Amino acid sequence: MKKIYLYGNWKMNMTQEETEGFYKDFVGQATPLAATMGKTLEVAVFPPFTSLGVAASAAKSLVSCPAPILGAQNVYFEPKGAFTGEVSIAMIKDVGCTHVILGHSERRTIFGETDKLIAKKVKATLDAGLVPVFCYGETLAEREGNATFDVVSRQLRALSALSPAELEKIIYAYEPVWAIGTGKSATSAEAQEVCAYSKRLAEEMGARSVTVLYGGSVKPDNAKELLSMDAIDGALVGGASLKADTFLRIYKGYAGI
Ligand code: PEP
Repeated sequence: MKKIYLYGNWKMNMTQEETEGFYKDFVGQATPLAATMGKTLEVAVFPPFTSLGVAASAAKSLVSCPAPILGAQNVYFEPKGAFTGEVSIAMIKDVGCTHVILGHSERRTIFGETDKLIAKKVKATLDAGLVPVFCYGETLAEREGNATFDVVSRQLRALSALSPAELEKIIYAYEPVWAIGTGKSATSAEAQEVCAYSKRLAEEMGARSVTVLYGGSVKPDNAKELLSMDAIDGALVGGASLKADTFLRIYKGYAGI
C-alpha cells in the first residue's frame, strides 16, 4: 500500500480548548492506526497560531499513538523586525512546527499574496529547514476558460529559482479554488490529471520526484476514490479535519479499516 499524507488545515478555527479536545479524541481514533502512522500514513495538523502552543503540549502527552506533525498556516519571510501582525519562521519553529502551509488560495485571494511573495516565503522556509506545503490551483473562471494548466504552470514555475533538491523537499498541494470549502470536490479524474501534470512540471524543473496532495472538499465518503489515484499522494483537508473522527475516517475509508 502506498504512503498516504493526511494533512489538516484548521484555518481560522479551534480555540485552545477545542484544540485540546481534538488531541483527546485523536488518541482514541488514532490508536488502531498507531503501527501505520509514520510509515504508510503521515498525519499533520495546521492549527491557527494561537493554538500551536497547546497543540505542541498536547502532542507530548500522547502515549498510545504517535502525535501528528505540527505545522503553521502561514509565515513571513523576514527574520524579525517591524512587520506588525506577522510571525517569523523562527517563531513557529520555536513552538514546535516542522511544516508550514504557503500559498493557500485564501492567502492569495483574500490577502493578495502574489506568486513572488509566496516564492520568497518558500525559499526562507526551506533555508530554515522546515517543510513548505505549497498550495496552488485554478479558480472556477480559469477552469471554465480552459486556463487550468496555464495557471498551475505559472504558480509552480514561480518556484523555478529553487534547486532540484529544494523542489523535492516541498509538499505540493493542488487545490482547485472552486472545490475549497464548497462541498464540491474535483472528480478523481480531474484531480489526477492536474496532480500528474504537476509532477511532470516539477520534473521538468529538475526534481526527480515530488509529493503532490489533492485538497478541496475531501471527506470520508470521497476519499477512497481520490486517494487511490496514482498521482495523488494524500489529501490536504479543511472542514473535515476539525474533528479527529472525521479526519481519520478519511484514511480509514481508503485503507478499508
Ligand atoms: C483547504 O482549506 O485547504 C481545504 C481543502 O478546505 P476544504 O477541505 O474545507 O475544502
